[in-house]
Amino acid sequence: MYDVHSKHAEDFINHEEILDTLAYAEANKHNAELIDLIIEKAKKRKGLSHREAAVLLDCDIEEKNQEIYKLAQQIKKDFYGNRIVMFAPLYLSNYCVNGCTYCPYHMKNKHIARKQLTQEEIKREVIALQDMGHKRLALEAGEDPVRNTMDYYLKSIETIYSIKHKNGAIRRVNINIAATTVDNYRLLKEAGIGTYILFQETYHKESYLELHPTGPKHDYDYHTEAMDRAMEGGIDDVGLGVLFGLDKYRYEFSGLLMHAEHLEAAFGVGPHTISVPRLKHADDIDPDAFDNGIDDDIFAKIIACIRIAVPYTGMIISTRENQACREKALKLGISQISGGSRTSVGGYSEPEPEDEKSEQFDVSDTRTLDEVVHWLMEMDYIPSFCTACYREGRTGDRFMALCKSGQIQNCCHPNALMTLEEYLMDYASPATKALGDKLIDKEILNVPNLKARGIVEENLRLIRENNRRDFRF
Ligand code: SAM
Repeated sequence: MYDVHSKHAEDFINHEEILDTLAYAEANKHNAELIDLIIEKAKKRKGLSHREAAVLLDCDIEEKNQEIYKLAQQIKKDFYGNRIVMFAPLYLSNYCVNGCTYCPYHMKNKHIARKQLTQEEIKREVIALQDMGHKRLALEAGEDPVRNTMDYYLKSIETIYSIKHKNGAIRRVNINIAATTVDNYRLLKEAGIGTYILFQETYHKESYLELHPTGPKHDYDYHTEAMDRAMEGGIDDVGLGVLFGLDKYRYEFSGLLMHAEHLEAAFGVGPHTISVPRLKHADDIDPDAFDNGIDDDIFAKIIACIRIAVPYTGMIISTRENQACREKALKLGISQISGGSRTSVGGYSEPEPEDEKSEQFDVSDTRTLDEVVHWLMEMDYIPSFCTACYREGRTGDRFMALCKSGQIQNCCHPNALMTLEEYLMDYASPATKALGDKLIDKEILNVPNLKARGIVEENLRLIRENNRRDFRF
């Protein structure tokens, strides 16, 4: 039975409820009157239920679809301004005991090179990432309880935070690792992680069981209930996502929003982020072997509808997508992107030899971080290297409350400008620096409060004189 408050996967991701939702959306996809009502509700910027959002996703009236895109763009602007948060993935280990049929890390794949970074190697990777200008990482690893232990992760996090190379520092470590226990989530929280990210892959239980035929990840309920355990362990910033291409996108879309509704109902705080990865070609994996791939138009519609349905949730797109696709996605709702990414284990400090490839999937956006930053600024976005919120204790419901009241802008905009200036001074090419300085001069006028503007101007001056502190609001 569907029960948003229940902690059981089969209740809060209830198959019958999803089927009913899909039937309701299908029946109303031409219902202009209902669609208008839903759009009007969405304009209040308090979000939509999974049923309402499913109707918008299915909406088949061109004129209404244009309204949906316009509203998504407006909500994006209202909540996130023109800031785009930057991050990079860091692959720690590709040892894995699971049998996921879409992932090259699956245990039976014998031709991918298996690697686990030592603490010394992590240090080299982090220095390389700091030298690019990154301040925020997402740690990635396969599931191997013997090799990739919690102790290993905790030690790695400690190593990463401890490295201060030149003016560099990793100030926020997010982590995307297999579902684990409440006690382990508590340890991750104590180690100072930002967001715990775990993709559901698919909410469709039957498909899930087929796509994960062996290994601990086969347990659908344990995987689906992971965010509940993470919250119980004190992690209040969690990141959801599905891997689009595995099952039917309408089903996944409803499941994703029901998951968000469940977290909000059970813990008073929805997901901090939602990622929208699409299945990619990888060693031993042909995405064409999966029937449910989605084209760029549907992908854009999904992003717009998520933006409208959960306005307070950040949205992430990775370098799985190419420049053109990312450009469109940024307008419709994405607030966080990776740049200069490598999906191999140890790929930042030195290129991998041809016969030792360890990467997880092909990257479509192969530009350097500097090129991505330059490109964003050409489109009038402010690339932000800010990591202040969680270090200021603005996580979970405190973050959401500030977001909902609109006050978060007073921190985000100044922090974005100051961290961009740090990037420009320390890492940017001359062309990027020139473009960035112009952008900052223009954007400083958008710091709403005059006193705050004065502080930002003073801090920018100090950064330019290389008189550094950890400037943040
Ligand atoms: N091992 C962790 C777990 O059990 O969830 C996740 C880490 S894995 C490095 C990160 C994500 O990569 C997976 O959750 C999956 O969605 C995604 N992934 C796997 N194979 C992929 C492929 N062929 N194309 C695109 N993304 C893929």
